[in-house]
Amino acid sequence: MARLQEIGERDGWRCWLCDEPVDADRSPNDDRGPSVDSRMTDRKARKSGKGNKRGSLDRDERLAHRSCNTGKGNADAVVHWNDSLFVIDPVAIIPSVERLTNKGGREIFCRCPTRTDADDTATWLIDRIGRLEPGLDLSPDIQEGGGQYLVALRG
Ligand SMILES: [Zn+2]
Repeated sequence: MARLQEIGERDGWRCWLCDEPVDADRSPNDDRGPSVDSRMTDRKARKSGKGNKRGSLDRDERLAHRSCNTGKGNADAVVHWNDSLFVIDPVAIIPSVERLTNKGGREIFCRCPTRTDADDTATWLIDRIGRLEPGLDLSPDIQEGGGQYLVALRG
């Protein structure tokens, strides 16, 4: 319980999966109550043997709503795109962020119909990913092509 408190305070009582506030006073047995999601820990540990070099090992346990955290280790965590963004062919956010964290480079996230949509989407992604992987420094890379805008981020 003390550990949950500690992780909750560090994550600002915000669910890392749905990005909504988590009520610290709710029962951990409640669907909207707080829980600790350690799936990233398991996956990173499997991949690299012993955490990663960027020092984010202590971030691998994350605060999540009980209902957002399946806690079973089988289902991959999914971060949802903001419904108000106009995006075409959005990718799965977590695997792309993992590649940026591990290798850097450039990842394409989606296409957008207008430059404004592309700018809004890049801004939202950088803000959202800033809470998923604090310390990952990203810059937007938007390219026009075929009447659409390709939204990528560079690590
Ligand atoms: Zn949640």
